[in-house]
Amino acid sequence: MIGIIFIAPPAAGKGTQSDMIRKKYGFEYIGTGDILRKAALEENIEALYIQEEMENGELVDDDLIVDLFEKELSLLNGKNFIIDGFPRNLNQAYKLDMMLEKKGIKKLFVFHIDVPYDTVKTRIIGRLICSNCKTVYNSLIDALKPKNSDICDKCNVKLIKRDDDTESTFSRRFEFYEKETKPLIDYYNDKGYLYHINGSLGSNEIFNQIDVILKGYIEND
Ligand code: AMP
Repeated sequence: MIGIIFIAPPAAGKGTQSDMIRKKYGFEYIGTGDILRKAALEENIEALYIQEEMENGELVDDDLIVDLFEKELSLLNGKNFIIDGFPRNLNQAYKLDMMLEKKGIKKLFVFHIDVPYDTVKTRIIGRLICSNCKTVYNSLIDALKPKNSDICDKCNVKLIKRDDDTESTFSRRFEFYEKETKPLIDYYNDKGYLYHINGSLGSNEIFNQIDVILKGYIEND
């Protein structure tokens, strides 16, 4: 069992890279943002709590996300996987270590995708997503603008803006990244799992850096 996790600020392109890795290597995908967005649609108190935390750019409670994540992980049945959005702090990283040890993981890749603050801010504030095919557009980046202001070029359906893609929520999310998530760089570096990826390039160039590392491991395994 091989696993991949990312340490990267919001809108660094983790979702896009996960898709590219999935297509080439067939790894399973677990995204904690998606898990929480789904849980937030339920009709119960937990859902209200999740909605509020996400809208304010706060991290949800560790015990809750660890529990939801562990359930998804157990469905993998030993398949190779990519995790997007977890762990987000050291406590979650310790919990993940214990889970992966129990599952007998063979190799964990930790990709640190470094992207400048202003770049991710523009990506978040202008981000528009097709509700059907999930293509990501950006109203502030010429090369990524849809042809018609809020309609998907491919599906002709309306583009949506995530509730937490606002300037104030972004600042809070970035603050959490700096304070809580970045310490994971040293943590995984000490374990020898860390790979630095230059995230200021386009998605294909970012994928090439990841691909070289994965290919090197898989070919020599
Ligand atoms: P994402 O889609 O990964 O950007 O996550 C969206 C939001 O979900 C975050 O801003 C947090 O509020 C919440 N979230 C996602 N993953 C986690 C996690 N591992 N721990 C706590 N909160 C999380």
